[in-house]
Amino acid sequence: MGKQSKPLVLIVEDEPAQMELVAYNLENEGYRILRAVDGEEGLELAKGHVPDLIVLDWMLPNISGIEVCRQLKKKKATRKIPIILLTARGEEVDRIRGFDMGADDFVVKPYSIKELIARVRAMLRRTRPGSVGEILTFGDLILDSEQHKVVRNGKKIKLGPIEFRLLITFMEKPKRVWSRERLLDRVWGVDADVDYRTVDVHIGRLRKALKQVEHMDPIRTVRGTGYSLDCET
Ligand code: CA
Repeated sequence: MGKQSKPLVLIVEDEPAQMELVAYNLENEGYRILRAVDGEEGLELAKGHVPDLIVLDWMLPNISGIEVCRQLKKKKATRKIPIILLTARGEEVDRIRGFDMGADDFVVKPYSIKELIARVRAMLRRTRPGSVGEILTFGDLILDSEQHKVVRNGKKIKLGPIEFRLLITFMEKPKRVWSRERLLDRVWGVDADVDYRTVDVHIGRLRKALKQVEHMDPIRTVRGTGYSLDCET
């Protein structure tokens, strides 16, 4: 799997030893890591990079984890990023408050690092299945990201790295309409200096490759908006 296809995880944690423990273990799992030492930096990095998941400590100086969570879930650009909240508070009422603020899961301190890793993986399996090596299927298409393999109607298809990432993105959320901007962020990264025309070019290449084995084009152009994988064949 290409480095760019690996999930990007933002860790927001003010205690250096905790940060190192979590970062080290997530890196070992093959994830890309962003580090923030307080809520403010966490918000900034989340908006700037749109990570695939956030591990967020509740107890932070200045802006608390719960407030970071609330702000991220309020904004369209960051609303869908899953958040695992780390908390020393195990009480039911606090959990409920956390869920109310939009946290997707909880891990209570002191936790076993294995449990946290398992929760991260479980969450990514739901939200970014292609990025954790799950085999994706849609219609006559099968994509195995671990083996970098695409098969259509039993026949192997060769794709370049960009076309492969485009197809993972589509197959993780079939029938969803992707704007060119969202595809750019997801496939090239938010910092990439690439224009919409480039997106169109690579969509064209992907279509051409897919049509080499079957004539039917599974990608629909949504006029004025973008693209969607929604023609099941
Ligand atoms: Ca803390």
